[in-house]
Amino acid sequence: MTLDIYNRIKDTDELVFPGTRLAVTEEFIGGQGTFSEGNYIYAAVAGKVNINIEKHEISVMSKAKPANVPRNGDIVIGGVVNASRQMITISVNYINNKEVYPTYTMVIHVSQISREYLDSVDEAVRLADIVRAKVIDAKTIPLQGSLIGSQLGVILAGCSRCGRKLEKIGRDKLKCSECSYFEKRTTTIDYGSGKLAFKT
Ligand SMILES: [Zn+2]
Repeated sequence: MTLDIYNRIKDTDELVFPGTRLAVTEEFIGGQGTFSEGNYIYAAVAGKVNINIEKHEISVMSKAKPANVPRNGDIVIGGVVNASRQMITISVNYINNKEVYPTYTMVIHVSQISREYLDSVDEAVRLADIVRAKVIDAKTIPLQGSLIGSQLGVILAGCSRCGRKLEKIGRDKLKCSECSYFEKRTTTIDYGSGKLAFKT
């Protein structure tokens, strides 16, 4: 004998979590955001219950905006918040050109910074640079990313000496317009354009 509270059908607009039992399969069809196991329908996502009486369908509307959840292959933009010889850490502000909040954290290993061998990350990217990167593993925390790709790399960088914007003067070669200091970065073709968008 089970308690009624576990067997009752969830109400419309009730907030549920993944794994919450919603209804019995005899009475309802599991819709979006649900899965069935045995005789029951469960919530697959966190969100609000939606019941369609005519269709006898029960579904869960996820509260998360799907566009904001990073997936493998997504293009992100963010600032370098930490840099060591072996990796950089990025605070991701945009996923596929859409702003995200709160931000995601992504790490990029030195082997994913450039096609060429690098002794150290700072030959290609430095602290406080803005980069366009690709998600290569969205299932890990932090996300794993890569800067290898034609439209990927540093899109904006400041001078290490004076902080002013660096101007691109050649392939991977930058110069400070203020103090004439030269620096090296793995830049994108549209470096410095201020464009966040990319072409797919
Ligand atoms: Zn400078």
